[in-house]
Amino acid sequence: MTTLCHGRFMPIREPLILLAEDNEFTAETMQDYLLFHGYRVNLARNGLEVIELALSTQPDLIIMDIQMPGMNGFEATQRLRLEATTAQTPIIALTALAMSGDRERCLDAGANAYFSKPISLRQLMETIQTFLGTREKVNVYDA
Ligand code: MN
Repeated sequence: MTTLCHGRFMPIREPLILLAEDNEFTAETMQDYLLFHGYRVNLARNGLEVIELALSTQPDLIIMDIQMPGMNGFEATQRLRLEATTAQTPIIALTALAMSGDRERCLDAGANAYFSKPISLRQLMETIQTFLGTREKVNVYDA
């Protein structure tokens, strides 16, 4: 797919979202929703996978479940913040713990936003669009 941009044909690059979620049903539901909205999606099942995939694929945004086996989302977020290529990547943390102090822990670890489950997919989408701007919607023919 191509679009005319400044007189040249440029490939459209749909934003890539890395979704780290160990619950299969939740992961599939969210993946379907993100794909429907035109994003590319990679899935990670634990903290080590999300770090590997984040460094190798350079996603535009990361959705980080906090409760995952092995390395949890707090530690994965902290580690990604120490890597030059992911230090600035928007990270949206998701947690099932509705405990006080959870929000602060997520933000202290380096997350940019925080949702407690059950999440509203519409609110999540609004937050994603806030971080990614309108890049995926740009169409010079509508301008
Ligand atoms: Mn989980």
